[in-house]
Amino acid sequence: MRFDVPEIPAGAAALRAELRAFLAEAGRDWTPAVRARSWMGFDRAFSREVGARGWIGMVWPREYGGQARSGLERAVVLEEMLAAGAPVGAHWIADRQSGPLLLRLGREEQKRRLLPAIARGELAFCIGLSEPEAGSDLAALRTRAERVRGGWKLNGRKIWTTFAHLSDYMIALVRTSPPPEGGSRHLGLSQFLVDLRASGISIRPIRDLLGEESFNEVTFDEVLLPEEALLGREGAGWAQATSELAFERSGPDRILSSFPALAEGMDALRDAPGAAPVLGRLVARLATLRQMSLSLAAMLERGEDPAREAALLKDLGNSFEQALPEALRGLLDPEEMPPGLRALLDDLVQLSPTFSLRGGTREILRGIIARDLGLR
Ligand SMILES: Cc1cc2nc3c(=O)[nH]c(=O)nc-3n(C[C@H](O)[C@H](O)[C@H](O)COP(=O)(O)OP(=O)(O)OC[C@H]3O[C@@H](n4cnc5c(N)ncnc54)[C@H](O)[C@@H]3O)c2cc1C
Repeated sequence: MRFDVPEIPAGAAALRAELRAFLAEAGRDWTPAVRARSWMGFDRAFSREVGARGWIGMVWPREYGGQARSGLERAVVLEEMLAAGAPVGAHWIADRQSGPLLLRLGREEQKRRLLPAIARGELAFCIGLSEPEAGSDLAALRTRAERVRGGWKLNGRKIWTTFAHLSDYMIALVRTSPPPEGGSRHLGLSQFLVDLRASGISIRPIRDLLGEESFNEVTFDEVLLPEEALLGREGAGWAQATSELAFERSGPDRILSSFPALAEGMDALRDAPGAAPVLGRLVARLATLRQMSLSLAAMLERGEDPAREAALLKDLGNSFEQALPEALRGLLDPEEMPPGLRALLDDLVQLSPTFSLRGGTREILRGIIARDLGLR
């Protein structure tokens, strides 16, 4: 694995300043609870404002609603959004992975219809991978699509689907033919673009330990999909979905989920006894992770498929995001903390166990890394 550190383009400083000014204004009333959730916060009005400024789909070609900006400029936007704890969830998945997938595999009509609407912040997407008996062992999935006259018929169940209840489309990985006798289970899977308004789809929110409803169980009961709902090639779904995971695992959202607390803690905790080495170590770790993430942005922009590097970044990044709230809490008696920081940390401590589950668990990522190192 190799991580070359790219140069941030010269124009990015002005872009960063523009973002900070926008976020200072937009975020005046964001509570600690909003900032702790950040890309798990769903706010369509905010996404439309971001879209109006050209900050969604910004690397896509102009003919599809993009701005033809560079991947590193996009990285600046993502960093600033996450650093501010902006509620970007309504456009995050579409901008990060569904849009790029559509750009690569979608039909011309789909690209012209969907990508500009995503870029305007008007369309939300969700990821239909996990199933009740197929989480880490994703190839065990049982949702299936059969060819029928004029299209496909979909039956099965997805689970833990973030924002399905609020989204317009799902990109689902399903089985279109049984695996060959004695052959790989990765064969016979295909990806579909599913309009969540189709009849036969029921979406049941699942309440989490915080009492919130962000993920769902989605049931498909004889759902009819048009021919063009098939994304890419029939049977090539596994390779398509795993290359999508490089987009899902490589971004600053895998290292900055707890950042708003660090930014606040730098001021509020710097004089606490023993704070300097703790804060110093956190900042040093973050600086390294950031270089890795920028390096991945450059690889994706060059059209490479850095799936293993993304697994490494996600694992190291998740460990950092999880350690951060505990490290800060250890610096000062909660009673002495500024109330805003304390509220932020209280939420982050409860949210952070999910960081190393969503997008692939720690054990699975380490398996991928070990294979790359020749250890298994
Ligand atoms: C907040 C959140 C949001 C999510 N959003 C989505 C979403 O939008 N779309 C979606 O499709 N999914 C989503 N997921 C699901 C997530 O991808 C799965 O939870 C994850 O892949 C693990 O699958 P599982 O829950 O079935 O656990 P399991 O696969 O049953 O794993 C249980 C434990 O066993 C370990 N384990 C499993 N297999 C192995 C192995 N071979 N070797 C070593 N250890 C192993 C795992 O690491 C884990 O610790 C979300 C999850 C969370 C927590």
